Amino acid sequence: MTEQPASYFTDSRMSNSELRLWRQCPAKAKAVHEGRWTIEPTDAMLLGSLVDIIVTQPEQMDAFKAENPDIFTQKGELRATFKHAEVMVERLKREPVAWNMLTWGEPQKMLTGEIAKVEFKGLLDVVHPGKRIFVDLKTTRTLGDVYNDGWEKWYNRYWTQMAIYRELTRQTYGEAFEPVIVGVSSEKPPGVDGVAFSSRSQMIEDRLQMELRFIEEDIEQIMAMRTGEAEAEPCSLPTCDYCRETAGFDLKLAEM
Ligand SMILES: [Zn+2]
Repeated sequence: MTEQPASYFTDSRMSNSELRLWRQCPAKAKAVHEGRWTIEPTDAMLLGSLVDIIVTQPEQMDAFKAENPDIFTQKGELRATFKHAEVMVERLKREPVAWNMLTWGEPQKMLTGEIAKVEFKGLLDVVHPGKRIFVDLKTTRTLGDVYNDGWEKWYNRYWTQMAIYRELTRQTYGEAFEPVIVGVSSEKPPGVDGVAFSSRSQMIEDRLQMELRFIEEDIEQIMAMRTGEAEAEPCSLPTCDYCRETAGFDLKLAEM
């Protein structure tokens, strides 16, 4: 998935990225939605965007260069940190199944629809209307398990996104398309992995439906915070850049 410009968040339609922000830190999400706070892309995010552009929209490379001059040298070549994107793409090219899925369909397709009475949008990396699948390319640090309050699969954080995108395909094409994630790691050398969220598995189907029910449960509160009817509280976590920047000084008792 390509990094989102600030306008992606100030739009009235909800997206997976914005939803995730609201769930993490409502105060930050509100600031981003109102254009008071911008999400500065990290090197990892830029590397992901770069891989995405090279694979799904190579013709957009010049526009990408113009928007991200910092990752290129004055000669217009990729800086060392980002040169690795080319190695990652070459690794993908060696896998015909993955490469065909990523390059044969309709790239960067914006779909919209209604979920829990709220307008949603999703920018899908590649859609294959004929094959009834859509593919999301993920650049990731590792294709192994990751620690997130417990060990889980590297792709576990994408269930909500896959459920939203699948629902948007159902509303757009009249049939729910099967989500597929192609992962490429930023390691040296890079690894590749593919994951199908196939509804032929009842467990996968149940989980995707559960994600939509979670949205039904918390979207009303989120929309109330968005409009200002409810207070958008800060998460106050030291890992949150917005909260570090905006929290006041708090002298508290030492804990053991
Ligand atoms: Zn926060």
